[in-house]
Amino acid sequence: MRRTHELSSKQAVVVGGSIAGLCAARVLADHFDRVILYERDELPDQPVNRSAIPQGQHVHLLMARGAQELEELFPGLLHDMAASGVPVIRNRRELIHFDAAGHVLETGLDDKYVAYVPSRGHLEWQIRKRVSAMPGIEIAHRAVAHPQYDPAAERVTGVVLDDGDVTPADLVVDASGRGSRLPTWLQQWGFERPREDSVQVGVTYASHRVKIPDGMMPQKMVIVGATRNRPLGMGMLFHEDGIWMVTAFGVAKAEPPRGFAEVCTLADELLPPEISAALRAGTPVGEMNVHRYPTSKWRRYERINKFPTGILPFGDAIASLNPTFGQGVTMAALQAGNLRRALAQGMDNVMWRLAFRNAKTIWPVWMMNGAADHTEHGAQGDRPWWYRPAYELFTQFVAAAETDPVLAEWFLSRTSLLDSLYLVPTPRLIGRAMRNNVKQWVAGRKSRDGEVNTLDTVA
Ligand SMILES: Cc1cc2nc3c(=O)[nH]c(=O)nc-3n(C[C@H](O)[C@H](O)[C@H](O)COP(=O)(O)OP(=O)(O)OC[C@H]3O[C@@H](n4cnc5c(N)ncnc54)[C@H](O)[C@@H]3O)c2cc1C
Repeated sequence: MRRTHELSSKQAVVVGGSIAGLCAARVLADHFDRVILYERDELPDQPVNRSAIPQGQHVHLLMARGAQELEELFPGLLHDMAASGVPVIRNRRELIHFDAAGHVLETGLDDKYVAYVPSRGHLEWQIRKRVSAMPGIEIAHRAVAHPQYDPAAERVTGVVLDDGDVTPADLVVDASGRGSRLPTWLQQWGFERPREDSVQVGVTYASHRVKIPDGMMPQKMVIVGATRNRPLGMGMLFHEDGIWMVTAFGVAKAEPPRGFAEVCTLADELLPPEISAALRAGTPVGEMNVHRYPTSKWRRYERINKFPTGILPFGDAIASLNPTFGQGVTMAALQAGNLRRALAQGMDNVMWRLAFRNAKTIWPVWMMNGAADHTEHGAQGDRPWWYRPAYELFTQFVAAAETDPVLAEWFLSRTSLLDSLYLVPTPRLIGRAMRNNVKQWVAGRKSRDGEVNTLDTVA
């Protein structure tokens, strides 16, 4: 028999209980008497990964900005993570090996950059614990079949669950991830689908969990991006369980190595000898996992003409970004801030207010990723004409950051989305980068001339 969950005075439903859904539920709880979050996957009561989140089997970085935003939403989260053994990394050269566009950056100036390195399962568990303890929020292990739509009112009035039960709602938030079916439902209800911008990044992850003997690795975070001449990169993160997550990845459909021995060979090529030696001394724990991520997607909800009331897209359901940049959680947390501000102005037109705010948040990050993907990582798809010149200027900047800690600091902060979402250096910093590159060029030239003179003398 079909059951209808009672509609309390003001009730919201969230579809999807991953990071975006949990952040949305947290914000909604300040505005609705009751929030019901439906997650189709079984939710573990331990800090472990779950099957619907394949990203938990791979390197999954929490950006410094993401940590700050999550702390705003869930005060005490960072303290509790650290108390549970989650590594906390301050910006020190010996702790972070960061290689961007083929340049190893000289970081380590400023303590503003603080990274927390929870495993994906641990992060979600910490957040879920807090959300489920909030009065007015219920988390239920149920799958949503589709929203309930009232065509006369052009309004979503609740959700229909897989077993036919109906939950009425004043507002439904779709946080069901990049596979969201909202575009299809919109079409079925007589609205236009959102335009979908995409970048074919062709990313493949192959990951091992590895136990490395104590004392062999001072670093806690190792990131090596792919370059235009080498479509492979690596990430290594040390987590609270004392195990390293080691991911080799390929871009533009390049295949990363699969076996642990082959990953060690790639490490010999990409990493300083002491890091690759430590990896070689390690022992893989469990099976290797592979994940393919073909396309970054941005559904442009802010651009469509008409939208039903009562439903909002949220998180990866709007924009799913190339995972090698590690921004998805931070974007979900930033969207939660946007949702809070949009709801503070009331329910009328809340979808539009949120859509515009989210578009403003997503745009700079989408453009920054697109420029790097198209110019450095061999991505396919439409691209604005200015990607190449902007990125070429940017590579000059990163080259200078290799030997200039001020520039490296700025770069690390901005790629962590701290301070601003725009990766645009000031004219003063560009001037500094140019001067640095000229100095390096002159020094290189002198040392080459010196070598030639020495050879002449010997001859
Ligand atoms: C390989 C990979 C690596 C990544 N690495 C990083 C990283 O390093 N750093 C970072 O910040 N981000 C990373 N991301 C992205 C990040 O994980 C997501 O941005 C983040 O989880 C927020 O996504 P979400 O909550 O919107 O969607 P998802 O995490 O995809 O969750 C959607 C949830 O909705 C549930 N669901 C779907 N349909 C229904 C339904 N009908 N009924 C009920 N429940 C439903 C699913 O079971 C799932 O739990 C990575 C992603 C991938 C794929």
